[in-house]
Amino acid sequence: MAKMETKIGRRFEGKVAIVTASTQGIGFSIAERLGLEGASVVISSRKKKNVDEAVEKLKSKEIEALGVVCHVSNAQQRKDLIQKTVEKYGKLDVLVSNAAVNPSVDPILQTQESILDKLWEINVKATILLLQEAAPHLQKGSSIVLISSIAGFQPQPAMAMYGVTKTALFGLTKALAAEMSPDTRVNCVAPGFVPTHFAEFITKDEAVRKEAEGKTLLNRLGTTEDMAAATAFLASDDASYITGETIVVAGGIPSRL
Ligand code: NAP
Repeated sequence: MAKMETKIGRRFEGKVAIVTASTQGIGFSIAERLGLEGASVVISSRKKKNVDEAVEKLKSKEIEALGVVCHVSNAQQRKDLIQKTVEKYGKLDVLVSNAAVNPSVDPILQTQESILDKLWEINVKATILLLQEAAPHLQKGSSIVLISSIAGFQPQPAMAMYGVTKTALFGLTKALAAEMSPDTRVNCVAPGFVPTHFAEFITKDEAVRKEAEGKTLLNRLGTTEDMAAATAFLASDDASYITGETIVVAGGIPSRL
């Protein structure tokens, strides 16, 4: 980590960034990366304790951070997230939509309706509703990044419906890029396997982990910092001529041509 801190630039000096589901895992690393590069970062998740702890961690690295409790499918909490950001920092430059659930391993045809609703609500609809709330505050030159998944290209049996919601984010990226142009760019990151709480089912079993590593060309799982680096690139002015695109960050796991 210390090594990365000395290498990175300051592309987000004076910028304000919101990252959803950002108190651990990929979301936290994205918030940390944007903060280390100079952004004021607003982090959020469902549990206040997690939010408070994550804010402290960021502040200990001299990152300007605000924490807001936000379950992404709660309308009032979405409103609070945007309002408290604008109250404190006066604007919004970057929004990373990172929250997702994968509540079932059932085949699609056996998935209960309540689970289908939850998948749609958190993985897709909440992103749209949060962006509706955020849109009036987005600056000229602002940037949205949606966090999808390699599973969106190739939905695997145990996460098929989750994969389909992630496929929807590829379409949403294209549609929103057109709708929000030219002032706001919209792009997407599709992570491969990253050992986090969310991916415990892959990484806690040595054999399954080895199999996942073997699917990559680089013989390793991804890190949360790998995902943060790609997200920061897309959110930054280095990507100022890129919109409506998805970057796959999966160590070479087959995705598309
Ligand atoms: P993670 O380490 O388990 O972290 C999940 C974070 O989300 C926590 O901060 C959690 O905090 C928060 N959270 C959970 N439900 C939420 C909700 N409804 N509203 C707001 N916050 C919520 O997960 P991760 O692996 O970093 O996953 C992040 C994203 O990457 C997801 O979109 C996932 O689909 C995608 N992804 C992950 C992998 C992988 O291998 N890890 C691969 C492809 C894509 P609280 O408990 O306090 O809410």
